[in-house]
Amino acid sequence: MSQYKLLIDGKSVDSLDTQKTEIRNPANYNEVVDEVSVGSVEDAKRAVDSAYDALKKWSEQTPRARSQVLLKAADSLDTSDAKIAEILTREQGKTLPESLNEIRLSAAIFRYYAGLAPTISGRRVELSDPDETGFVVKLPVGVTIAITPWNSPVVLMCVKLAPALAAGNTIVVKPASSTPLADLMACELISKAGLPPGSLNVVTGKGSVVGEELITNKKVSKIAFTGETETGKRVMSLASRDVKRVSLELGGSDPMIICADADFDLAIDAALISRFRNCGQVCMSVKRLYVEKTIFQRFLDRITQRIAKIRIGNGLNPTSKMGPLHSKNQLEKIKEQVFDAVNKGSKINYGGSQPNESEFQNGYFYLPTIATNVDQNSKLVTEEVFGPVLPIFEFETIDEAIEKSNDTQFGLGSSIWTKDLDKAMKAASKIQSGTTWVNSYHEPQIDLPFGGLKESGLGKEMALEGLENYLETKAVVVNSKGKKRRWLD
Ligand code: NDP
Repeated sequence: MSQYKLLIDGKSVDSLDTQKTEIRNPANYNEVVDEVSVGSVEDAKRAVDSAYDALKKWSEQTPRARSQVLLKAADSLDTSDAKIAEILTREQGKTLPESLNEIRLSAAIFRYYAGLAPTISGRRVELSDPDETGFVVKLPVGVTIAITPWNSPVVLMCVKLAPALAAGNTIVVKPASSTPLADLMACELISKAGLPPGSLNVVTGKGSVVGEELITNKKVSKIAFTGETETGKRVMSLASRDVKRVSLELGGSDPMIICADADFDLAIDAALISRFRNCGQVCMSVKRLYVEKTIFQRFLDRITQRIAKIRIGNGLNPTSKMGPLHSKNQLEKIKEQVFDAVNKGSKINYGGSQPNESEFQNGYFYLPTIATNVDQNSKLVTEEVFGPVLPIFEFETIDEAIEKSNDTQFGLGSSIWTKDLDKAMKAASKIQSGTTWVNSYHEPQIDLPFGGLKESGLGKEMALEGLENYLETKAVVVNSKGKKRRWLD
């Protein structure tokens, strides 16, 4: 019998209507990884009730006590990293080293916010009336909903859980329907690290049903969402009914600008890692590459040689460098985006199809792909490309590269590659994105706020700003000297 059930009130429970579904391996869709209980609207309600009831107990623990629980949770994640990573690879498709990195980063995030929990503090303010004193106090927001996507389900869950718990909130997680297993396994461990029952709950089920019940439930105060921009807009509109707090981490179409004076080899390595890890299914992946005209052909030749060496395969196989796409939907979307580019005159320099070999026939594999002569109106430019396809463009002036980089509704990440740091800093101030990396590749940093501009999101995760997401700021005014006030005196 499946071990994967909902987590409500500290207990592993079946959904009330006892519905289950099979989770399949994207590298071999004939392989059932496991069965999982599917939550219903009623399960969502009981999870919120449980989180609401636990709020007093958890929020009244001292920040130092909360910090200890978070540290223990980090240790538990580290101790079980191999076990969680294996299930993550089997349900999501990414390679085992990528899964291990994800679990270790999740543990590191718990440690980081364990360190910040005891620093949560307000301040005393001198007011213009000397008889009164002002205070700014920080309070937990309340019951928080974490809705997560399938591309990096554990870390994108933990980057919400750790600061929310550090701040004294209680939580209900709604994992993506196709990747609930690693999230459930991780939450079982985190929950046993000393959280009062009900402080952390997980309800599986469809976002459009269970997710919407969680968002609109009157006992919920805050929604932390990661997913597609269109879903984010829906989440925001539902949350606005009760003016609930919302943070949104949404899609991206990150540009990478490589100038002629850049460190050529470093830039090639960065483009490869940033575009092809997790089979291109990373929000902050490089999705459009702009290379200065004088080095364009040399760059194209070299990256095409390197891309041909990327070994694709089942993520559990130690020789695999790139796993499959996550689902049939993703595969169909990538095929359609490449087809559209070719129809509009694009040249496919490498890849552009599924691999032919028989070992790949039962998985959602797609070859790493490079496209040039890509029309600005093609879907490879106008949409988020969530797969291993890299369109490469040439530019003559930095202003032209910046203008094209900004010609999108997205604004998540970007990078600029040049040895001229003055040029880099000027470009960084003009590129419209939440993060710009200079001579460095698109990688999250726990100590820096991460989040998008424009339609890539609202609010920040990671760093101090990530903690602020889960705190309310309140002003208190104390009439410290008992001064009397009379109306219209
Ligand atoms: P989706 O928006 O399809 O789904 C994300 C989550 O939202 C899932 O749990 C889903 O549930 C749920 N959901 C779907 N519809 C609703 C609804 N109406 N109400 C409430 N919840 C709902 O995104 P994907 O899972 O496809 O994730 C990929 C996307 O995430 C990409 O666009 C990527 O760029 C973005 N992303 C952004 C990051 C960032 O930091 N900016 C980081 C990582 C990814 P269900 O699975 O049941 O449909």
